[in-house]
Amino acid sequence: AAMRKARIKRTKTVCTYCGVGCSFEIWTKDRKILKVEPQQEAPANGISTCIKGKFGWDFVNSEERLTKPLIRKGDRFVEASWDEALDLIASKLTEIKEREGSDSIGYIASSKCTNEENYLFQKLARAVMGTNNVDNCSRYCQSPATAGLIRTVGIGGDSGTIQDIYSAGLVLVIGANPAESHPVLATRIKRAHKLHGQKLAVVDLRKNELAERADLFIHPKPSTDLVLLNAITKYIIDQGWGAQSFIEERVNGYEEYVASLEKFTLEYAEETTGIEQQTLIQLAKMVHEAEGVCILWGMGVTQHLGATDTSTAISNLLLVTGNYGKPGAGAYPLRGHNNVQGACDFGTMPAWMPGYEPVEDAQVRKKYGHAWGVELPAKPGLNNHQMVEMIHKGKLKAMYLFGEEMAIVDSNSNHVDSAFEKLDFFVVQDIFFSRTAQFADVVLPAAPSLEKEGTFTNTERRIQRFYRVLEPMGESKPDWEIFQLLANKLGANWNYTHPSEIMAEAARLAPVFAGVSYERLEGFNSQLWPVQADGTDTELLYTDKFAFPDGKARLFPVDWTPPFDPGEDYDLHLNNGRLLEHFHEGNLTYRVPGIVHKVSQPWLEVSPELAEQRGIDDGALVQLTSPYGEVEVRAHVTDTVKGNELYLTMNSTTDEDMVNRLTSSYHDRITHTPNYKEMNVKMVVLEAQ
Ligand code: SF4
Repeated sequence: AAMRKARIKRTKTVCTYCGVGCSFEIWTKDRKILKVEPQQEAPANGISTCIKGKFGWDFVNSEERLTKPLIRKGDRFVEASWDEALDLIASKLTEIKEREGSDSIGYIASSKCTNEENYLFQKLARAVMGTNNVDNCSRYCQSPATAGLIRTVGIGGDSGTIQDIYSAGLVLVIGANPAESHPVLATRIKRAHKLHGQKLAVVDLRKNELAERADLFIHPKPSTDLVLLNAITKYIIDQGWGAQSFIEERVNGYEEYVASLEKFTLEYAEETTGIEQQTLIQLAKMVHEAEGVCILWGMGVTQHLGATDTSTAISNLLLVTGNYGKPGAGAYPLRGHNNVQGACDFGTMPAWMPGYEPVEDAQVRKKYGHAWGVELPAKPGLNNHQMVEMIHKGKLKAMYLFGEEMAIVDSNSNHVDSAFEKLDFFVVQDIFFSRTAQFADVVLPAAPSLEKEGTFTNTERRIQRFYRVLEPMGESKPDWEIFQLLANKLGANWNYTHPSEIMAEAARLAPVFAGVSYERLEGFNSQLWPVQADGTDTELLYTDKFAFPDGKARLFPVDWTPPFDPGEDYDLHLNNGRLLEHFHEGNLTYRVPGIVHKVSQPWLEVSPELAEQRGIDDGALVQLTSPYGEVEVRAHVTDTVKGNELYLTMNSTTDEDMVNRLTSSYHDRITHTPNYKEMNVKMVVLEAQ
């Protein structure tokens, strides 16, 4: 028994699923995962976890793991040695770079991988391969929130902590479903609402779990949130409820902003959003009367044509009501992946170096160029949307992608598939043979978080360390080690022996991480950036100044973009999103038998009215068609949706049920985030039940 006990190991790790960033101890015996044990000292979650964090780890031991590099030979993939695979990648990338130029290659990073890995990947793209064509999946989700915040308050991150959300007087959730996408955070909101008198308002197309409990639930017409936000902000100003001294002391552009709101009257808002004026007034009053307002938003806001503008309107409302820089207030875009915040922070973005220093700034390039011993490209690179377009135009010839299932999660899948088929050379690095890997020339086996060390940054800007629990399976390797091996084959001379050395380099170069170190992050310790050189971190942003040279925030006028109209043939509105049990498209959670047993397929939510009208029973097989493709899925009749609005869960198991067969390539004007949530379809019943 003592022997057996000795083999049981407890290791601190950080959940690999969502942006809440729960940390806990994981108990293992050899490769067997015995249990997950949350600890009181975990900063984001204490003793809470959700089903994914607690039971979602079996994918690590899946027999489907990639354990050897694979090289395409005609229609087949054959196993290869690391040397063989990396030599081939190095020679192909070099050849394409020499023939077509550095900017003919694109690099897609991973929000599931560590800060250190994202840092090294952008260094590989920029310093070794000479291009800023590097992006990550925040382009699909939260880039508009980042852009809206950078415009108004200067920093593209949550302005406070999860504790602030917990202690706000009013939590306003717009276009997000935290009970399924950020479960532990939602539990805290539910508790504050029930036990501490916190008010809760939800604006959404679906009556989700938080909406059921909310003091006020508003269901506007699709794609009209900006009108609703501008109208209540105008109403607050007109009533003299604005935070006048805060605005005078801390905010620029007030006069011009007020003038821009002229058309957003309650009448106009009622007509556009379908929400009665009394209800709009009720929401405005709740904002006005609350001791501190936190606004949380997700993809329901950011995946639209006017997404950056709606995010900006949220920040404008917070500024007008003085809800920045104090506890229990502020802006909280909810980060989806465990490390989407960190992937952006550490520079896998086409216009930003690590720590959000612009690539266009000659001083910034000089600093990094000097440290890395190279001259860096000045022109911002392509984002992932532009990369797909450039492949179709014949200008982008090769791609290197890691830990990202682009062939399922990018919009307009048929368009993306045909782009991948045109590539001269494609490297995919992942823990499984993903759908995207089908298009690759070389597939490299990576190691998941339990098999490596590193840090993740959660939605609060909180950097947390995790430790190696298991050895990498087969010949798989941590992503950072793969980048180093490849960089050295490409002529670099990298000698990192541990991720802590990568973090130390980032901390030396990027001022916002100045005092971040592995020693300070030991165990359950964490640091919220910006971190000063002495290690002092920042829980609450903007307490005395905003992140602009004069220290003042900027009200930024925004106008409404009406939703895309595909014509009357497509008579139903289709929304989509996550569900609690599955993470995203499901590449990880579909390899967890317990979760698959509970939820095996996606489904389509159909309102009782529409079901009645079309003769659809629960379980009927229906076909949805958009101008871009078709999907077949089972219907679930429920009153969470209304009228002609449908909702499709986005976990997909087959080529036939991928929601992105239906989405278009239209996108937010500023950030190119696809308008996944603005979709119209037609529906036919294939099988009554
Ligand atoms: Fe993991 Fe998010 Fe669940 Fe926490 S709430 S256990 S971070 S999936």
